[in-house]
Amino acid sequence: MSKASSTELPKTVDPYRLAEQEIVLEGEIPLQALSRFGDSVFGFEDGAVCRVSLSFSMDGERRRMVTGELEAPVTLECQRCMGPMQKTLVSRFTLGLVTSDEQAQQLPKELEPFLTDDFSADLWSLTEDELLLVLPPFPLHERDECPAREELEAFEPDESGDEEPVRKAEDNPFSVLADLKTKKH
Ligand SMILES: [Zn+2]
Repeated sequence: MSKASSTELPKTVDPYRLAEQEIVLEGEIPLQALSRFGDSVFGFEDGAVCRVSLSFSMDGERRRMVTGELEAPVTLECQRCMGPMQKTLVSRFTLGLVTSDEQAQQLPKELEPFLTDDFSADLWSLTEDELLLVLPPFPLHERDECPAREELEAFEPDESGDEEPVRKAEDNPFSVLADLKTKKH
């Protein structure tokens, strides 16, 4: 996907015509415009966009398909420290265009159905659905970046110390005495 692109993705298209012409659409959708998605994340930067590339095509059996790639930078809530964490959501998908549940059931199982009207499909809504699908259910900071790290480590063995302190003390009782001496003042 080209970073220079700043065209807004068309909202409503005739996906069947696009598939017959094998059209590729690239563009952006302001995240602000996707309210269901906005309600599901901690937040995003002002003016943040989802970058979208959709490639419409037909297969050998004249099945209409759309293959897509999405990328959106968002802020999620880390479930360990409950603080904000930055994440770029990425999704890749291939959908079969259908206008009825019956058609959807006839799709080969590797194709997810994209239910549309006869001559129109809402690409923003499609994008929003796909973004919601890739939202991590339990987002967590990388361990080293999580502010709750120190609290966690208080309950865990010190990684820099002896792995088996009890057994070592038995092996060498004098080291225990040495420790006691240095700790007493
Ligand atoms: Zn965290």
